[in-house]
Amino acid sequence: MLEKRTHTTTLEVNLGALAANLGHFRAMLRPGTRVMAMVKAHSYGTGSVEIAAMLQHEGVDYLAVAFADEGVALREAGIRLPIVVLNSDPGSFAVMADYDLEPEIYSFSSLKGYAAEIRSRGITEAPIHLKMDTGMHRLGFMPQELPELCVLLKDEHAVKVRSIFSHLAASEDPAEDDFTRGQIALFTRMSGRIVETLGDPSILRHICNSAGIARFPEAHFDMVRLGVGLYGIEDPALQAAATLRTQIVQIKTLDRGDTVGYNRRGVATGPMRTATIPIGYADGMDRGLGRGAGQVCIRGVLCPTFGNICMDTCMIDITAVPEAREGDEVVIFGERPTVREVAEVLGTISYEVLTSVSARIKRIYV
Ligand code: PLP
Repeated sequence: MLEKRTHTTTLEVNLGALAANLGHFRAMLRPGTRVMAMVKAHSYGTGSVEIAAMLQHEGVDYLAVAFADEGVALREAGIRLPIVVLNSDPGSFAVMADYDLEPEIYSFSSLKGYAAEIRSRGITEAPIHLKMDTGMHRLGFMPQELPELCVLLKDEHAVKVRSIFSHLAASEDPAEDDFTRGQIALFTRMSGRIVETLGDPSILRHICNSAGIARFPEAHFDMVRLGVGLYGIEDPALQAAATLRTQIVQIKTLDRGDTVGYNRRGVATGPMRTATIPIGYADGMDRGLGRGAGQVCIRGVLCPTFGNICMDTCMIDITAVPEAREGDEVVIFGERPTVREVAEVLGTISYEVLTSVSARIKRIYV
């Protein structure tokens, strides 16, 4: 991540809130159920190494990243926990073996390719994580592929199945609970068959993401995969771990008819005051938040954007806060507005808002 020393815009990450959210989910688990923490996409935008180090300290069992490079960065920073690489493309098999990263194996070609890489190094029993497709239809072995998979695995000694898993497509949506239960039932059958074939009861099984942990306790199996819940952004019962804030750099007093920003989309309908803040769409302040759609918090008051969002700046209507001054703190998201409220304005999910805070915003940890 770009090291920024002078920029007033920061993403503050509260490690205590993250630990509390981890504890919240742990309290739902049977003793012995393991936790894999999702630290992909820079831990949902909050930072990779810092969060992984904190999770290692908190005793989680596994970390998961999307791409091998993310895992390499964690290893180079000294993270020792086992790390699963979910999108383990063949081009990264050698790097994964070099850095002791454990691939998700989702197809025959990924199984054969990784086993060949391991064999070429004269190693045996490199840990792998088998992905079952139980209805998400993204990555994973289909039920009809199971017989062939079992035959292959029985004779393959280069790799050792460390876990079998699947992913729920709609665990947060009560309207889809029948589908989710169907996924869980199918996963139980598929994973059971592989465990039986290999005769290895130490293989871990897992299917639940954050919403799945909370809503399907019967499906915790041996491990759960905790993502968004750690960061506290989707559920008001959790502690929001991230606050995006900046400061007012200039205040202007405008007259009726004055226009603001590119294409003159902000038009003063009477005397007003605007604040310019140093955050724009290149920082993750989506243009969809412009022209009054989005709000930021200044001195406890929610104030709408005014005009189009620029690349590095945007303007806020602060007429309702006459006491506002240059240098005042501006909260883009955090306690108020929440990430979720920002996502609602944009017609998206909190995950996207948090992961879109760009690399040039400095992360600070409290
Ligand atoms: N497992 C897999 C395979 C995922 O891709 C993700 C997130 O996208 C998760 C678990 C975590 O999901 P959540 O953030 O909803 O907890």
